[in-house]
Amino acid sequence: MSEPDAAPPVPPELVHEAVRSRLRQERARLSHSLERWDAELAEHRRRIGERAPCAYRGEAAAREEIEADAHACAAERGREALQEIDAALRRLESEPERFGRCGRCGDVIAAERLEVLPQTLRCRACAESKTSAEGR
Ligand SMILES: [Zn+2]
Repeated sequence: MSEPDAAPPVPPELVHEAVRSRLRQERARLSHSLERWDAELAEHRRRIGERAPCAYRGEAAAREEIEADAHACAAERGREALQEIDAALRRLESEPERFGRCGRCGDVIAAERLEVLPQTLRCRACAESKTSAEGR
C-alpha cells in the first residue's frame, strides 16, 4: 500500500502562483457579490423609506427590515474579506519570501491551508490555539 499523502513539498513559486490566482478569483467573486448586496440593500431601503414611519408596520415591513439587515451584514463581511484579500495580494507582491509564513510562529503555512485560505496570516496550529484561547 502506498501513502497517497506523502507528496513532495511544493516549490514556493508554484504555491505563490496558485495563491495569487486563487486570491484574484476570490476577489472578483466577492466584488460581484458586494455589488449585488449593495443593490439589494438600496432596494430594501428604498421600499422601507417609501412608507410613512407609522403607516406600515405589518409583517412585510418587518421582513423587509430583517432582509435589509442581512444584506447589510453580508456586505460588511464581504468588504472585510475583500480588504484581507487585497492585503494578502500586496504581501505577495511586496515580500513574496515572507508570504506563506505564519505571522505568529514564523513556520511555513501548509500549501493545502493556503489553497483554501489564501489570505490567512497564521499556520493552522496558531490559528487553532488562538481560537481556543478565545473560547470559541
Ligand atoms: Zn504559527
